[in-house]
Amino acid sequence: MCRHLAWLGQPRSLASLVLEPPSSLLVQSYAPRRQRHGTVNADGWGVGFWAAGRTEPARWRTAQPLWGSASFASVAPVVSAGCVIAAVRSATVGMPLEESAAAPFTDGRWLLSHNGRVDRSVLPAARDAESTVDSALLASLVFARGLAALGATVTEVAAADPDARLNLLAADGTRLLATTWGDTLSVLVTDEGTALASEPWDDDPRWSDVPDRTLVEVTPDGVTCTPLTPLEPS
Ligand code: GLN
Repeated sequence: MCRHLAWLGQPRSLASLVLEPPSSLLVQSYAPRRQRHGTVNADGWGVGFWAAGRTEPARWRTAQPLWGSASFASVAPVVSAGCVIAAVRSATVGMPLEESAAAPFTDGRWLLSHNGRVDRSVLPAARDAESTVDSALLASLVFARGLAALGATVTEVAAADPDARLNLLAADGTRLLATTWGDTLSVLVTDEGTALASEPWDDDPRWSDVPDRTLVEVTPDGVTCTPLTPLEPS
């Protein structure tokens, strides 16, 4: 199980999101506090964000552990963005170990991270998938169905694979969407913006836990949580 986070709000440095907090994604890559599956997230990491004036997101991904990236540690304090997704990866058994298997995935407009696992045989073959990893196939399906159908896509995939864990996190530069289905997610609302994260990166009392099986939408106007209703197994 991986750990992921997203930010929507005032521009802030990638370091302030990913590296500096006491329980940052960097710390979560070797000492997660709430992870239910796996103990370290050393199989790669990625960060995607929208640079000012650009509609397409930029990404930095690798198949190496986040703690080994001295170059990122050097650059991250001076790169700022108002919409960011980042993830550290613990590869599911049998999945490829490669840069293109690390989240966030993209269709050129959206970024998407998957925290979980799904049986690839229940997903349609996707020629445009970035990798053969389950998360990339799932990302292709979500992009093809459209993000407006995110909740329906998750409940349908869960019905086809009742063992699937489907915590998704997506952004298009102006809003965030997330689902909880089998793992943890917390939300932090501040005057500067809103964060979603697999687990809180500090002890700020404003963090609250999102219930399992929820669809979350974050816009500049606020946070909306909608329960996801399981379908009958297909
Ligand atoms: N199944 C995905 C992978 O192998 C995500 C793993 C996870 O959430 N730990 O990369």
